[in-house]
Amino acid sequence: MLQPRPRLRLFVSVPLIAGQAVATNRDQGHYLSAVMRAEIGEAVLLFNGVDGEWLCRIEALAKAGAALAPQHQTRPQTPEPDLWLLAAPLKRDRTDLVAEKATELGVSRLWPVFTRRTNIGRVNQERMRAHLIEAAEQCERLSIPELAEPVALDKALAGWPAERPLLFLDESGGGLPLAEVAAPGPAALLVGPEGGFDSEERRMLAEKPYARPVSLGPRILRAETAAMAALAVWQAVAGDWKTGPRG
Ligand code: SAH
Repeated sequence: MLQPRPRLRLFVSVPLIAGQAVATNRDQGHYLSAVMRAEIGEAVLLFNGVDGEWLCRIEALAKAGAALAPQHQTRPQTPEPDLWLLAAPLKRDRTDLVAEKATELGVSRLWPVFTRRTNIGRVNQERMRAHLIEAAEQCERLSIPELAEPVALDKALAGWPAERPLLFLDESGGGLPLAEVAAPGPAALLVGPEGGFDSEERRMLAEKPYARPVSLGPRILRAETAAMAALAVWQAVAGDWKTGPRG
């Protein structure tokens, strides 16, 4: 009989090898025992971004963490599409939303960039990473998006890899529709802050041979809406559709 899919799925940062028990951290131990009321012997899927996904059984449950025994691999590791999202930091809950949705929509790297009109002073990377992990656990990804060091936009562009098109979401309507420009292969999307890009930035971007303005239509979207819409359009046109969500 086909086994039902386990209801528990967690990211760990240790190797997954048959017969080598994995100790979870305290938060995951609490999640398994107190929140999900898991039982000894129950199945949990683990992934670590390297070894694919493994079916594991709970061997021990304690406040300090759980012990899980890897049984067999359920999915081999596969790469995500090579898609980066550069996004100006937004207010806290909106940044959380972008982190969560960018993970679900398959970005390989999330890169907070400070633009001239960004009015948020710093990024809470720990909080952001927690959102990336939670979203990856929930959406059945096999990897966590890389969280790149937040930097000023011009710093991010210095040393830009020439083979990676930078499609910047331009609310001024100057660019072609994103759906016409998106193509398979390495790519990056750049979304501006609440206040948009200023003319100096548009000029600076226009000079870069790898950068192209793209449009999402005649309406001005909030930055977080623009990020999600752009990722969905890019994935629809250029993403990997060879496999279903479960490989
Ligand atoms: N305050 C600005 C709008 C900023 S919208 C103004 O009034 O003009 C925030 C970001 O979302 C923009 O910088 C852009 O990157 C993106 N965006 C919003 N609507 C868009 C559209 N129709 N096409 C492309 N990008 C868009």
